[in-house]
Amino acid sequence: MSVVNIQGIGMTSQRTRDRLIERLRAKGIKDENVLEVMRNTPRHIFMDEALASRAYEDTALPIGSGQTISQPYIVARMTEVLLAGEKRLGKVLEIGTGSAYQTAILAQLADQVFSIERIQHFIPRAKKILAMLELRNVNLKHYDGYKGWASFAPYDAIIVTAAPDEVPPELLHQLAEGARLVIPSGEQGQQQLLCITREGDDFIRQNLDMVSFVPLVKGTRL
Ligand code: SAH
Repeated sequence: MSVVNIQGIGMTSQRTRDRLIERLRAKGIKDENVLEVMRNTPRHIFMDEALASRAYEDTALPIGSGQTISQPYIVARMTEVLLAGEKRLGKVLEIGTGSAYQTAILAQLADQVFSIERIQHFIPRAKKILAMLELRNVNLKHYDGYKGWASFAPYDAIIVTAAPDEVPPELLHQLAEGARLVIPSGEQGQQQLLCITREGDDFIRQNLDMVSFVPLVKGTRL
């Protein structure tokens, strides 16, 4: 993928971005910090130049290898749910770096972000964009997200941007006390977004919206 030069972000795209923010507000996103960070993050630089003109539509778009950059509403919604938890976002774990758009949003709202991606070639691309945006508080790893990232656990929040059939137990174990896991779960066509909060050895499960994510796939690939 060739990355659009960040200098190309002019007034026009700022207006287009403002319109997207108003749409998110109309759909029920209330957290002003989330809206502000999304207003200031140029989504078009996370995708292929050929699709950049559609970057501020509220829709998921292909990023290659059968994967997608998540719909802005979903990014806003999941981030808002993480921020509404009782834990301050110190350390956050993300599974499914993909384009790194969600990663970049989190990096502006948390102290540190750890992000895992199973497709190796997404990693250098993500590194380049995050460096361009001067977001230095992100650690990336080519790994199987089903296993989490044990060496930096426990996390104040965990977000998963692909859907497993069942919630991976390893991710539950890597939650700090009072921390939230936001994860889509279920078969294609009937996935539910879940918010799971750790209370000691109990995991309190809350069902949120019906959603549509690519599957969380076991193992890694080039
Ligand atoms: N947040 C990303 C979403 C990308 S789509 C964005 O908005 O761009 C989901 C991503 O999860 C894909 O990049 C896919 O390769 C990755 N993924 C799927 N299974 C995974 C696994 N087991 N471990 C880590 N990443 C995984």
